[in-house]
Amino acid sequence: MSEPKGRGGDWTAPREPKGRGGDWTEERGTSDEGRSRLESGPEASGKAERASGEELTSVEDHLAEILGTIRPLAPTKLGLDDVHGLVLAEDVSASTPLPSFDNSAMDGYAVRVEDVAAATEEDPVTLPVTAEVAAGDTGAYALQPGTSIKIMTGAMLPHGTEAVIPVEWTDGGTARVVIRGKADYGHAIRLTGGDAKAGEVLVTAGTRLRPMHIAVIAAAGRGSVLVRPRPRVVVLSTGSELAEPGAPVVPGRIWDSNSFMIAAAAREAGCLAYRQAIVRDHPDEVLPAIEDQLIRADLMITTGGVSMGGEHDVVKAALQQLGTIRFRKVAMQPGMPQGFGTIAVAPAVSQQEPRRRRFRRDPYDTAEPAQAAADERVPIFTLPGNPVSAYVSFQVFARPAIGALQGYDGLGLESVQAELTGPVRSSAGRRSFLRAVLDRSRGQVTPLTGQGSHQVATLGKANALIIAPEWVVRMAEGDTAEVLVLP
Ligand code: AMP
Ligand code: MG
Repeated sequence: MSEPKGRGGDWTAPREPKGRGGDWTEERGTSDEGRSRLESGPEASGKAERASGEELTSVEDHLAEILGTIRPLAPTKLGLDDVHGLVLAEDVSASTPLPSFDNSAMDGYAVRVEDVAAATEEDPVTLPVTAEVAAGDTGAYALQPGTSIKIMTGAMLPHGTEAVIPVEWTDGGTARVVIRGKADYGHAIRLTGGDAKAGEVLVTAGTRLRPMHIAVIAAAGRGSVLVRPRPRVVVLSTGSELAEPGAPVVPGRIWDSNSFMIAAAAREAGCLAYRQAIVRDHPDEVLPAIEDQLIRADLMITTGGVSMGGEHDVVKAALQQLGTIRFRKVAMQPGMPQGFGTIAVAPAVSQQEPRRRRFRRDPYDTAEPAQAAADERVPIFTLPGNPVSAYVSFQVFARPAIGALQGYDGLGLESVQAELTGPVRSSAGRRSFLRAVLDRSRGQVTPLTGQGSHQVATLGKANALIIAPEWVVRMAEGDTAEVLVLP
């Protein structure tokens, strides 16, 4: 009763990089004249390049750097009440056989096979009942030849028992019992070790604990187990245009949706998520706001303020000074501007409260001494502000990173193949993640209209993302596409 190590059932990691990708234009191809299957763009090569000649990093390279930076949180021992959804950090074995004693599988009568061999519906056998054993009774009973002992499900078998006659085959008597059928050796008996042998591994390290795993751990007598703690994720949205949902807005302002969305997505990925109040686009606000939160974060996620240039992109400007976060363009659509790195907890704070995690030294940071306080660094994602970009970026990069914090490689989105019910377009050199409705029973996927990165209404209708690979500029109705199933 164990799950494949480190994998969550049917979850699979995001797909391998295949080459060049595209950029969905908002218009969906109408005529779809060129019926060619998977019409290709420029030839694939390791690195995608934009027309400007600026290099884009592939989705896989960016993800690999992220996963190469993150180390799992240190395991901790928790009681079984608190481990649901966490990742087991030890193999759990049976310390005794399961069950640990021979017992009855049914309510009935313990008998010797020979004493009931002649029993039939028409010609029943009657035996005296000498005792009654209930589940939990630890007394030593012995079955004498020519007699029976009334026994309940789970009760320890009296010495000498060869079979249990179900109560349904009898008149249910207490002093004497009328038995209307015979039974073979072992009938309705659960033998010691019939479920698991002593020492057998029941649940392997790396398993995300679901109710069935918790059942077997408890049945093996373990009250607590070593697990990776639930990652604490702090989510912060930046933007002077943002207002709290529920509060009135004036033209020029919008309600913050990203922080609620990302916090919920982080919880869905098994985290404790803390949503921080909106941070304005002001250089003096951004860095202090982030630093304030580090002490309670195993992972920070910001949205907004990391676009390609503007002076209002204060997250990028503020964090760039630290030199430990790399801002780059990733060959994807939506979600091209990505930032990831680690950020240090202020020394005064870290001394008071040592962190519980270990990280590899930040791969981007060449300025730090070799003995950098790796323990004191928190990984941080700076996701683009457009809600769909932030969402897709979270699912493609942050979700696997959250898995890595838990020592779990099964948090990538499930990927399936499905037939397109309409055409899609994508620009060469970028991998498009297109909002869509997947009908699994039909094996079909329908691309949604309105693929702009700001079009959150379309996101609300989607249950899947069609992947248009880097080298594809158009896919036709009837083509088979790779589809990511949204959690
Ligand atoms: P930025 O990445 O800051 O340039 O933002 C890109 C777009 O996303 C702009 O239209 C922002 O108004 C919008 N945006 C940024 N943050 C949020 C947010 N938290 N919720 C909704 N939209 C946002
Ligand atoms: Mg902004």
